[in-house]
Amino acid sequence: MSLIVGLTGGIGSGKTTVAGFFAELGAAIVDTDAIAHELTSARGAAMPAIAAAFGGAVLRQDGSLDRALMRRLCFSDPAKRKSLESILHPMIRGESAARCRRADHAPYVLLVVPLLIESGAYREHVARILLVDCDEARQIERVMARSGLSEKEARDIMATQASRAERLAAADDVLSNSGAPGELQRDILALHRRYLELARRGDASGRA
Ligand code: ADP
Repeated sequence: MSLIVGLTGGIGSGKTTVAGFFAELGAAIVDTDAIAHELTSARGAAMPAIAAAFGGAVLRQDGSLDRALMRRLCFSDPAKRKSLESILHPMIRGESAARCRRADHAPYVLLVVPLLIESGAYREHVARILLVDCDEARQIERVMARSGLSEKEARDIMATQASRAERLAAADDVLSNSGAPGELQRDILALHRRYLELARRGDASGRA
């Protein structure tokens, strides 16, 4: 089994951007958000259970999940959120574990888990936690520019996530993404070398 590094950070902090740079350097990327999208796409493996639990109104015409509707439903009703999570989370965990196992060809795996610190579910599967850190003003700007959400919607989502201080306290490694992408790439290269060294030592615990 390769060294597994958990990559986390708040919404809009830059996880996808960072994962893309690491992939170019040869890391395997297993992205739990991407898996969730696949599971809830048309003919996705989670769709029969979701349709049975929530009814056909949450499906789009092509049979995929109406994510915007589901987000609104779950925001206002914690029982619905729990129900959705009880369907999706075990499937996401199973699929991400299978993909990590299959990534043996890569020197190490970056397992992208947006709520790694909040949920705790993946902690025992990762040797280290890498945090993409970004100041909150920039986070809000980027979320608004990317998704067209209002500032209030961005803040509401952030209020459900761990605070910046809680994330920093839980992280083994921190990448600052408050600056330009060029600075980020330099820091990613340094971390990549460190992870290669940990992987080469065969130290699955990943302790530096
Ligand atoms: P996450 O996956 O954590 O939600 P993304 O990587 O999708 O975050 O980044 C959120 C948005 O901010 C994207 O539109 C991305 O292109 C942009 N972005 C990320 N890093 C930077 C940066 N250093 N400078 C400017 N824009 C950035």
